[in-house]
Amino acid sequence: MSAATPLMQQYREIKSRHQDAILFFRMGEFYEMFYDDAETASQKLGLTLTSRNNGGAADVPLAGVPVKAAADYVRRLVQQGFRVAICEQMEDPAKAKGIVRREVIETVTPGAAIADDLLDGSRGNYVCAIAAGAAKVEMGHGRVPADGGRVDVGVAAADISTGELRLAVVPAALLEPLLARIAPREIITAADTPHPVSHAPPTLPGALTTEREGWEFDPALGRDDLARHFGVLALDGLGINESDALAVGAAGALLRYLKELQPSGVSLARPIVERAEGILPLDEMTRRNLELVESLRGAGDGNAGTLINVLDRTCTPMGARQLRQWILAPLAIRQAIDARLDAVQCFCDAPIARETLRTALAGVRDLERLGTKAALNRSTPRELGALGASIARLPAVRDSITEALDAGRGSTAALLSDMLAGWDDCADIADDVRRVLVADAPVAVGDEPTIAPGVDAELDELRTLRDGGRDSIARIQAEERARTGIQSLKVGFNRVFGYYIEVTKPNLHLVPEDYQRRQTITTGERFVTVALKSHEERVLTASERIEQKERELFDALRQRVGTQVARLHAAARATAVVDVLASLGEVAMREGYVRPTMTDDFTLRIMAGRHPVVERMMPRDKFVPNDVHLTRDARVVVLTGPNMAGKSTILRQVGLIALMAHAGSFVPAAEAEIGVMDRLFTRVGASDNLARGQSTFMVEMAETSAILHTATDRSLVLLDEIGRGTSTYDGVSIAWAVTEHLHEVTGCKTIFATHYHELTQLADELPALRNFNVAVREVGDKILFVHRLEPGGANRSYGIEVGRLAGLPDAVLARARHLLRLLESEQLARGMSGASPALAAADQLALFAPAPSAVLEALARVDVNALTPVQALALLDELSKKARGA
Ligand code: ADP
Repeated sequence: MSAATPLMQQYREIKSRHQDAILFFRMGEFYEMFYDDAETASQKLGLTLTSRNNGGAADVPLAGVPVKAAADYVRRLVQQGFRVAICEQMEDPAKAKGIVRREVIETVTPGAAIADDLLDGSRGNYVCAIAAGAAKVEMGHGRVPADGGRVDVGVAAADISTGELRLAVVPAALLEPLLARIAPREIITAADTPHPVSHAPPTLPGALTTEREGWEFDPALGRDDLARHFGVLALDGLGINESDALAVGAAGALLRYLKELQPSGVSLARPIVERAEGILPLDEMTRRNLELVESLRGAGDGNAGTLINVLDRTCTPMGARQLRQWILAPLAIRQAIDARLDAVQCFCDAPIARETLRTALAGVRDLERLGTKAALNRSTPRELGALGASIARLPAVRDSITEALDAGRGSTAALLSDMLAGWDDCADIADDVRRVLVADAPVAVGDEPTIAPGVDAELDELRTLRDGGRDSIARIQAEERARTGIQSLKVGFNRVFGYYIEVTKPNLHLVPEDYQRRQTITTGERFVTVALKSHEERVLTASERIEQKERELFDALRQRVGTQVARLHAAARATAVVDVLASLGEVAMREGYVRPTMTDDFTLRIMAGRHPVVERMMPRDKFVPNDVHLTRDARVVVLTGPNMAGKSTILRQVGLIALMAHAGSFVPAAEAEIGVMDRLFTRVGASDNLARGQSTFMVEMAETSAILHTATDRSLVLLDEIGRGTSTYDGVSIAWAVTEHLHEVTGCKTIFATHYHELTQLADELPALRNFNVAVREVGDKILFVHRLEPGGANRSYGIEVGRLAGLPDAVLARARHLLRLLESEQLARGMSGASPALAAADQLALFAPAPSAVLEALARVDVNALTPVQALALLDELSKKARGA
């Protein structure tokens, strides 16, 4: 390559430091992209690709976007998962000697975005660093740690638009639920350690991954970085201790990464340190299957049909984000849950205060993001005005909390009284903004006034001068008309000539000597006079100085507000929490929910429970409530019943009620007693989940296996039709064995919905297993769904009846009934040889009764040394009978 122009040299030098980003290279009124960037951009944004002669070398591909429209192009690229580095001209090109100095001032990425159009008000936008720990074995002096060398993972997640920073250390197995909850847009991992995300499912939808060098995750470095960032000597003050080392290391890598993206710095609030033991982890499948924040049909239709859609009556974006957080990370400690329930109770008991609060909150905009923007010197006058107006509502919010506490005298809501004790109205900030800004501040300093009158004497003087100047123009016009006798004479203004006197053709002979001609137009001529020019001068410089003064005053205000960002964030957090609590109170009252009684016991007892989402899709009182009661002695329920009877609904209803309670919400039931759980699993069989196109039998088995490995006796396991993705025989066997394991080994609360009514036989074998079925009534050869849960197993599947309801032709139905009778006849059920090939599958219907595995199991239990010869013979006889299925 021959020598490039100095400009291209500068470009190359900058680009070399931003290899992984598309570089927007500022050239006057355009951002230009070159080479591959230009090609990518032209493809992704539909820009025209041109070329530029590179001083003798081959043509350089080039594409550009106007600076004015750049925000939209950046948004589109970032939404498609690209990083965009914005390179500005750092000096006035007119004054620059040689080539203009340029610098990348910001790199916008999916996980590090501040612009509103890249964000969703109802959810956080996270970039997440993950540090995998070496197995803890290293620590001991030859000792094997009690937990068998479990591997921990440190996570630091930041949302730079709200200033939120979260730290957590979790066992590797809990990384997936954590990531499922945070749903980071971007992940940072160490390049030279085993990939920590390998514990997570392969799909972290849409997350961009960046690898950094291992040293960046060093806890000692991270400690220094955090201490420096938050201006503390030791991290204890931030609630961070030795056990958080991995998360601190991750935070260091994260801060360093953010520093690269935002060289002018980010504004982060004090970190929230999550303690794993306080949170009920929800994995991706449970989050999905219970349709907590996204329906199974996908994100396409918003959040219709989801739990959050029912529960979200929040009034502010911070509240909406907080609620999402509470739903995705329910609590696992009874006292903490009760504290929330107390506060919700308080708002239930005080409807008037709740209404006052909601009215106050309705005027509060996104305090968190607006505060962050101020801290980053990015707010527009309008945004700063909105921030001020929002802060001004805080006293009303505080008053309504006091009112709620007074009204609900009986209830003690420590959450609310503590909040009041630490409340900060931030009145000084609100006053400052209100005093300095005009009432409806514009989007930018310039044409319209930004700074209120009375703020700055010099500004006021300049304005008088400018406005006086305007008056003078009117005066000059009147004087000139009088002097010349030209009644149509006008004083006007245009950008090229400034102020002028316009005289129409018929009057030109009246123009005095001192008029200087400037321009000829079709209807006449334009002139200036010395007096007019001097007025013009004063007016114009006044306008310029006004704008400059306004800018200075606005910047100073923004800076003052920005320095208070920590207080604003604290106020935003309090507001978010109170918003959620009142919203939960509102929903509880509207929907007829009750307060669940939380216990530290095993029992789960729901009387007249309803599905919060399904009940809303039908007319009031049409939903049939059901009781579910799980105790240690009756901990496993096998739920049978035909398709469409309501099995999945009950199953999910139990999961949702348990989850709502753990999040601090009242629940749709007449009464509920809920023992605090450590995990909640909801697994839905492959065939019920085909819509997602990724549910293979393998995935189903992997998910089931994860449950069997992690559930404890304090967990709730909800299984819907597992083992359906394979042949009937296989399926029943797996379902059978899984149920046995959960009953015998795990000992957890389990509900297993299945249309394999064969499984009801398990009740003979397992003492704490109960059969229930969702009843249907038979009327002639038709069935009626009554959606009522009854003890006992279903004895039939009613598949043919359901087929009839679905409109299968009569001839097909008749034939199916005939085949079913045949299949159910004993000979076929035993799978006698000689059955027609078409009916060979009938084998698979052979019921479970003594299965070969039972023989093996019996054998495994035999202690041969302890058997007498006679006993051995008797056993052999028994086993051989079993094996023959007699
Ligand atoms: P299954 O899992 O047994 O195939 P579902 O749980 O999917 O059945 O329920 C089928 C439909 O029946 C639901 O979409 C709902 O409309 C209705 N349904 C279920 N349970 C109830 C209930 N308790 N009350 C009223 N309607 C119900």
